[in-house]
This record gives sequence, structure tokens and C-alpha cells, in this order.
Amino acid sequence: MPTYSYKCDACGRGFEREQRISEDPVKKCPSCGKPKARRMITGGNFILKGGGWYSDGYGSSGSSDSSDTSDTSSSSSDDD
Ligand SMILES: [Zn+2]
Repeated sequence: MPTYSYKCDACGRGFEREQRISEDPVKKCPSCGKPKARRMITGGNFILKGGGWYSDGYGSSGSSDSSDTSDTSSSSSDDD
């Protein structure tokens, strides 16, 4: 499931939600409770699915499978 970033127009606070793609976007802000939350487009793990949006020029090399691991927490406190 992708994680979507939201920002509230009312109080300006941001939050994140894990949702299915088919799910409706969250409108209610968890901070102030107003229906002013807006979904932000993030370039993180947002995957465009379905063809038709790219013009010709596709089909040069094989499918570019990037690893799905986004682990940025590296705890290495090894003193020598
Ligand atoms: Zn709010």
C-alpha cells in the first residue's frame, strides 16, 4: 500500500496515510477535524500504472525494475 501525504488547508498541518490506490482520499484533518485535507503528490513510492500516457519511445530496454526497499534507517554504531 502506498503512503500518501496530506496537508490541511485549515491548520496547515501535514500528515500521512497508508491507503489503497482505489481508496478515496482523506478529507478530514486529524488535527483540527476540518474537511480541509488535501493530498500531496509525492515522488516517493507513487507508481503510475496503466499504459497510454507515454508516447512512442517505449521499448528500448527491458523493464526497469527498481528495488522496492526504501530502508533509510541504518544504525551502525560500531566503535573500533
Ligand atoms: Zn487541520
